[in-house]
Amino acid sequence: MTEKLLPFIAGNWKMHKTLAEARALAREICQGLSSAAAVEVAVAPPYTALAAVAAEIAGSPVKLAAQDTYWERQGAYTGAISPVMLADVGCQYVIIGHSERRQYFGETDETVNRKVKAALEEGLSPIVCVGETLSQREQGQTFQVVETQIRYGLAGLAPAQGKRLVIAYEPVWAIGTGKTATPDQAQEVHKLIRGLLPEVAGTDALRILYGGSVTPGNAKDLLAQPDIDGALVGGASLQASSFLGIIAAAG
Ligand code: PEP
Repeated sequence: MTEKLLPFIAGNWKMHKTLAEARALAREICQGLSSAAAVEVAVAPPYTALAAVAAEIAGSPVKLAAQDTYWERQGAYTGAISPVMLADVGCQYVIIGHSERRQYFGETDETVNRKVKAALEEGLSPIVCVGETLSQREQGQTFQVVETQIRYGLAGLAPAQGKRLVIAYEPVWAIGTGKTATPDQAQEVHKLIRGLLPEVAGTDALRILYGGSVTPGNAKDLLAQPDIDGALVGGASLQASSFLGIIAAAG
């Protein structure tokens, strides 16, 4: 993979923002976006704010993402939201396998795989998150952990489906901690992932985002790495100024 792909900056709002706050943040992001920036931008509000944010970003280049999905289309699954519903409310992307889902909600590579397939079936583009914990890194297991998450999470995709995937490498020790992977640490894992993609996704021309305490101050160095094609941003996506600063660093 030598050609740089269109950078992609996605904001994961997690369990933040009331309706009024979500509308206001979406409006500020739309207003602050430079039309010249060659960057794709998406925001992932909580489920409760998806419709309101969809209305707010309509007609702007900002795209809508969800933070998770279930794999069934409909049925007696209290509390769950299906890919059909996400597409219906205007989502183009859905984050799957975020480390907080793995840590607090029992997400496994098998459930990631079911969700990825269901999202693709519905025409959504999954943003599939992988990454090692601190103890796994300290034990030298980073490559093995990430490779396993990629191979099992993306197992059995039809060749044409792989093209719509986005991968996010998010070392768990860097999420919400203020500790960012160095550009070299991130690049070596992104390169590993890139090398696995032809086999699991049918192409290596997919965006691989870095996530973990990305800020306007460190984004440029990370995004300058050959295999880093964008960022999945948590904390710094909750304020328009910092999110726009990261977008500017990518453009
Ligand atoms: C995330 O949760 O995906 C994330 C990268 O969070 P933060 O930017 O706050 O580390």
